[in-house]
Amino acid sequence: MNEIIRTSSCICGAVQLSLTGEPVVMAYCHCESCRGWLGAPVHASSLWPARNVRVQRGADLLETFKRTEGSGSHRKFCRLCGAPVLIDHPANGMTDVPAGSVAELVFKPRLHSHYPERVLAIRDGLPKYKDFDPDLGGTGEMVPE
Ligand SMILES: [Zn+2]
Ligand SMILES: [Zn+2]
Repeated sequence: MNEIIRTSSCICGAVQLSLTGEPVVMAYCHCESCRGWLGAPVHASSLWPARNVRVQRGADLLETFKRTEGSGSHRKFCRLCGAPVLIDHPANGMTDVPAGSVAELVFKPRLHSHYPERVLAIRDGLPKYKDFDPDLGGTGEMVPE
C-alpha cells in the first residue's frame, strides 16, 4: 500500500515537513489564538495524526510559542521567516498544519470550530461547533450560523 506523501514548508523554505496519508479533518478555526497567530480572520486548518507529520528539514530553526502552559496548543514557527509551520495538540495526539502551506492539498473543510469567537461569519451550511468536534476531544456543542 503506497500512502501519499505531501510536503509543507515555511515561506523561506528552510523548514520543511513531510505529511503522510490524508488529514483526519480539515476545518476552519475561528478562535482568537489562531487569529492572533496568523493575523487572519480565520485559520484554514488540516489536522493530522502527529506521527504522520515529520520535520524533514530545519528542525533546529523551529521555535515554539505556547499561549498557555499545558497540553493545549504548541505553535511552531520558523525562526528565519516567522511563518507558522504547525500546531501540536498533545492532548489529542494531533498536529495542525495550516492548509495553505501544504503542497497539492485541496482544502475541503468539514466543519467550523470555535465559531462563537468569529469575526467573519461563513454561511456555508457546514456544522458550526462551539469548540470542536467530539471525535477530536471537543464537546460537540453546536451553535447557529
Ligand atoms: Zn522560514
Ligand atoms: Zn484556533
